[in-house]
Amino acid sequence: MTVPRKLRMGMVGGGPGSFIGPVHRMAAELDGRIELVAGAFSPSAERCREAGEGFHIAPERTYMVFKEMLKAERQRPDGIDFVTIAAPNFLHLPIALDALEAGFPVMSDKPATATYDEVLTLEAAVAKSALPYALTHTYAGYGMVREARALCASGQLGQIRKIAVEYLQGWFTQLLEATGQKQAAWRTDPALNGPGGCIGDIGVHAFHLLEYVTGLQVTGMHAALRAVVPGRRLDDDCNALLRLDNGATGVLMASQVAAGEGNGLRLRVYGEKGSIDWRQEDPNRLRVKWHEGTEEIRTAGISTGYLSQQARSVMRLPGGHPEGYIEAFAVLYREFADGLIAWQQGHPNPLPATLPGIEDGVRGMRFIERALESSRTESWVQF
Ligand code: NAD
Repeated sequence: MTVPRKLRMGMVGGGPGSFIGPVHRMAAELDGRIELVAGAFSPSAERCREAGEGFHIAPERTYMVFKEMLKAERQRPDGIDFVTIAAPNFLHLPIALDALEAGFPVMSDKPATATYDEVLTLEAAVAKSALPYALTHTYAGYGMVREARALCASGQLGQIRKIAVEYLQGWFTQLLEATGQKQAAWRTDPALNGPGGCIGDIGVHAFHLLEYVTGLQVTGMHAALRAVVPGRRLDDDCNALLRLDNGATGVLMASQVAAGEGNGLRLRVYGEKGSIDWRQEDPNRLRVKWHEGTEEIRTAGISTGYLSQQARSVMRLPGGHPEGYIEAFAVLYREFADGLIAWQQGHPNPLPATLPGIEDGVRGMRFIERALESSRTESWVQF
């Protein structure tokens, strides 16, 4: 796509030492369509300035409060084109509402909001504003996830009967929040994170991947959540049985106390004729097994002729040169940028269906809310 000029991004969050803020910046800038020009990076003035300098932002465009950024950038002829949200969960709703109110499209990190009630407010605001809104469910950007999605949609696996999805991490194996570790502190505080701990932080990624790849919807769930580490205020370990809208069943496992695990996101989908197996820590390979007995390992690469067009269109490199987390993140930014350019040129609904949006945000928050309810009542719940 020809880019008339780079889109200008204003970021909220992503200050020094933050995890996902720098990932957003690298991903946004990777394909040459976007530049970070403004931000409110931290509630601390000193750290906000430090971040602005680190990102080479003009001093007058480093704002101490995000509301100031929205107000000032609206007045500038070279003001920002959209707002990226990379702050803790409790800020997602207020930032998104203010950004939409000020007329700015939004690229938000997940979960869409801190609670299910909040996401309904956001859904209404997105609809009312008619502005582009997208959600960075990172794993949807991997080429081999797009291949898995295309394979499920093609019907080649036959009727899907069983799904196993897991997201295992080990970094919460001890009471990390008691040490003052920044990322752990807000994630284990219900007021800053929302009521779902592990289920909201990574369970929601597993849930999204399952629905994104299979095209199926979860209709029922029996979940058991618990806090394994004494003193922890939110769940850190979750197991759930699932029912899908085509009659399939599934299991979802999410844990942050799985000692030794890094980012063990894995999806297995079993159809009548074959199955797929994808692992985030080996993202350039998709294993496909057929009932007749053959097993394929499909490998990422722009020139790999047997891959689907959907997969190849988001890849950048020939096979054997691995693409990873930042490139997957950048696929979402590229789709968002192309959609935004089309929107600026007058197309009313330009974001592609492959890019997670507010509907995914509502599904994700519903999943968290339903999982908490199921666990509390020790019963099956409907979606
Ligand atoms: P973090 O604690 O590392 O960073 C949060 C940043 O927000 C910090 O720099 C903090 O100073 C800043 N901040 C806090 N309050 C602010 C305010 N009022 N104004 C401006 N900035 C403020 O957290 P993180 O791990 O980077 O997570 C941030 C968000 O990204 C969370 O919602 C999390 O769920 C999400 N996340 C998504 C992924 C993914 O795969 N897409 C991965 C990690 C985190």
